[in-house]
Amino acid sequence: MYDVIVIGGGPAGLNAAMLLGRSRRKVIVFDGGKPRNRWSRNMNGFLTSDGMNPREFIKRGRDELKKYSVEVKDIEIASATYSKGEFVVNDAAGTVYRSRKLLLATGLKDNWPEVEGFEAFYGKSVHHCPYCDGWESREKAIAVYGKDRSGIGQALAMKNWSDDVTLFTDGTDTLQRSDLELLELNEVKVEKRKILRLEGEDGMLQHIVLQDGEKRAQQAMFFSEGTKQQSGLGEMLGCEFTSKGVIKTRRKQQSNIPGLYVAGDAARDMQMVVVAAAEGAKAGVAINMDLQQEDRKHVPEVERHM
Ligand SMILES: Cc1cc2nc3c(=O)[nH]c(=O)nc-3n(C[C@H](O)[C@H](O)[C@H](O)COP(=O)(O)OP(=O)(O)OC[C@H]3O[C@@H](n4cnc5c(N)ncnc54)[C@H](O)[C@@H]3O)c2cc1C
Repeated sequence: MYDVIVIGGGPAGLNAAMLLGRSRRKVIVFDGGKPRNRWSRNMNGFLTSDGMNPREFIKRGRDELKKYSVEVKDIEIASATYSKGEFVVNDAAGTVYRSRKLLLATGLKDNWPEVEGFEAFYGKSVHHCPYCDGWESREKAIAVYGKDRSGIGQALAMKNWSDDVTLFTDGTDTLQRSDLELLELNEVKVEKRKILRLEGEDGMLQHIVLQDGEKRAQQAMFFSEGTKQQSGLGEMLGCEFTSKGVIKTRRKQQSNIPGLYVAGDAARDMQMVVVAAAEGAKAGVAINMDLQQEDRKHVPEVERHM
């Protein structure tokens, strides 16, 4: 019986495990090895580790956990249930583990635009988050991908990082007159023709090729196509979700299920490594405090009133 099972060994899960390990809890972390930023070469915006390779960040995190005797297992968790104050999880090999508390730090995955060549550029010159990769794209010819009206907000936002921004609606033509006026007023160009493919070298975008064969010179592309949960465990356990598909949590990362906490991208709030790590730390402390309360011996009522 573990005090805590942590599912997900990204920044949220590892930081939670560190706080729990330091609190002398019996902790095990399960990880399927698919952190959301695995396509990226650099992890930006994390003070002291700005620009570090994301794989190196995870490796260092795991090394730091060794001194606290936290167990880490590289395997997917296939199912999880909760009954009468106990969590039971099954890994993909069929082994069963039990714990008093459970932390889901299973992250999200991004919906990708359906554009030929996308994967070769993703995380290198094609991005979804300007706060993670806008600086590296500054003053470049930036394309924003968004069908129908979905790219307007991001195209306007990208003017913060470059004067040269073009919104690509990929063969859709539903921008309203007021949208076009707004984009023109803010000097955002609009390209409505269908995209054939992305072209470039070594992950660096050079052209967006349109269906009629014309090539538009672009050095970076941003998109925002939404996300989904990386794992179905939140649903399996009966968690409440927001309309955006992330798990509803309270101030200390508690879910609606007693003893079940959720941290990082899978939970509500901003989706960045530093925030995920902070939420993991919050959850770690909150879980430990819950366990302290449950284990503390109390003076019986009668004696207290004597
Ligand atoms: C291309 C890209 C670039 C990014 N760049 C930056 C950046 O520069 N700076 C920044 O701050 N943020 C960046 N982000 C966002 C960042 O990746 C996330 O905010 C961060 O990874 C969230 O951490 P997490 O611990 O919640 O989830 P993740 O890092 O996604 O980790 C979740 C872990 O849980 C595991 N898991 C899921 N389900 C199971 C299961 N059933 N059993 C076992 N394990 C499971 C996964 O395999 C994964 O290892 C980027 C994202 C992308 C897509």
